[in-house]
Amino acid sequence: MTFAGSGDGQSGSARAHFVLVPMMAQGRTIPMTDMACLLAEHGAQVSFITTPVNAARLEGFAAKVEAAGLVVQLVELHFPSVEFGLPDGCENLDMIQSKNLFFNFMKACAALHEPLMAYLREQQRSPPSCIISDMAHWWTGDIARELGIPRLTFSGFCGFSSLVRYIVFHNNVLENVTDDNELITIPGFPTPLELTKAKLPGTLCVPGMEQIREKMFEEELRCDGEITNSFKELETLYIESYEQITRKKVWTIGPMCLCHRNSNRTAARGNKASMDEAQCLQWLDSRKPGSVIFVSFGSLACTTPQQLVELGLGLEASKKPFVWVIKAGAKLPEVEEWLADGFEERVKDRGLIIRGWAPQLMILQHQAVGGFVTHCGWNSTIEGICAGVPMITWPHFGEQFLNEKLLVDVLQIGMEVGVKGVTQWGSENQEVMVTRDAVETAVNTLMGEGEATEELRMRAEDCAIKARRAFDEEGSSYNNVRLLIQEMGNKTNACG
Ligand code: UDP
Repeated sequence: MTFAGSGDGQSGSARAHFVLVPMMAQGRTIPMTDMACLLAEHGAQVSFITTPVNAARLEGFAAKVEAAGLVVQLVELHFPSVEFGLPDGCENLDMIQSKNLFFNFMKACAALHEPLMAYLREQQRSPPSCIISDMAHWWTGDIARELGIPRLTFSGFCGFSSLVRYIVFHNNVLENVTDDNELITIPGFPTPLELTKAKLPGTLCVPGMEQIREKMFEEELRCDGEITNSFKELETLYIESYEQITRKKVWTIGPMCLCHRNSNRTAARGNKASMDEAQCLQWLDSRKPGSVIFVSFGSLACTTPQQLVELGLGLEASKKPFVWVIKAGAKLPEVEEWLADGFEERVKDRGLIIRGWAPQLMILQHQAVGGFVTHCGWNSTIEGICAGVPMITWPHFGEQFLNEKLLVDVLQIGMEVGVKGVTQWGSENQEVMVTRDAVETAVNTLMGEGEATEELRMRAEDCAIKARRAFDEEGSSYNNVRLLIQEMGNKTNACG
């Protein structure tokens, strides 16, 4: 599939050509679609690598690119699911039914090496200048070396979490720690930071993970820099420390979701929304500004049915208007039954429940939304920051606990709901981590009028202003995009 437009800037051989290779997971693909738009809007050419099933989810992106006449090519490569023991059509992490298939999935990704290389070799009229690939696609390092072009990595993390991850892995911080609840001090971190082992990155145990991790880090050490969906003014100390420790350039070019600021096409971002856009907007329009709490846990978190029920009861008890996104998952029937058994009826005058894919960015940007209960995935976190709303933090696994620390302790625009432990991706843990009372208290505090909450709100608005300044013309992220294109374009011209 190809969309090509004129772009606004350079032409012919001077145009830098970026090859974007996202991880096939919504939280990693979505920011790279924004990256593609951003680079193309600034005059670069982009090849966006995807697979047929994932391409079908990118209709919103395709429409945006086409309407804006951007020079972006969506390149579909056959994904060898069946060849690697996955069900036919299993082309995204959110389609894996068992975490035991994770390794198969990663091997199928690595098998894209040959077809990608063949495609890139065919691009003789405008050879690629640079590969920007997900950290997990370690195999793209070989391709970049073979073609003699730089490879920049994209982890989807902010600077704060990237720094923790780097320190933890490169210093083997977890090596001799046997107790998941042991508190670990992060050595060499620029501000005091302590977390339990379970809440630190690198504790996901799936078959083959160690092997993949090693490959990833080996290639990360060899890469030519990193792209981060953050902005310098948000976390200067951590980004600078990260650059120092890795001795690599970190290109902060975010918040990339701001590329949708003046667009009415946000509803289909990342997937087709499961709810009619107009209906959703009508509901939000009918609410007072700042009165609605938005609850969403991203694309991968496996919140247990028991926990969902508890969360719903807490929302009900808070008596505040809410939009609640419930992912359609294997265990939904239990929750569905409970919703139908009185809950939906009881909250119908003030609760909107979205089952499946929600137009999250559109909702967050609506003036009716005054707070966000988030699982602290970095995209959701930065989208919340751009919306200028304070957040209730409810991390499930991985780096989400680090983002919680950034929001609550450093930026002070979030408050913890009080998650007791980790709900690992793909785990069957049935424990209720947060009680309905805790939900009720957190929501009422965040949406209330206390002095502390007012301060949270003011700081959140301030962060949103800084985000826009960084992204707008002559801001730090804006300038970084231009510099990046210039630098990669110069390399191409020097080679050609
Ligand atoms: N998202 C969305 N609708 C949904 C769920 C998620 O638009 O129903 C988007 C959300 O706006 C964000 C991304 O999907 O851009 C999720 O990324 P994040 O890093 O927050 O979490 P992950 O899904 O990777 O855990």
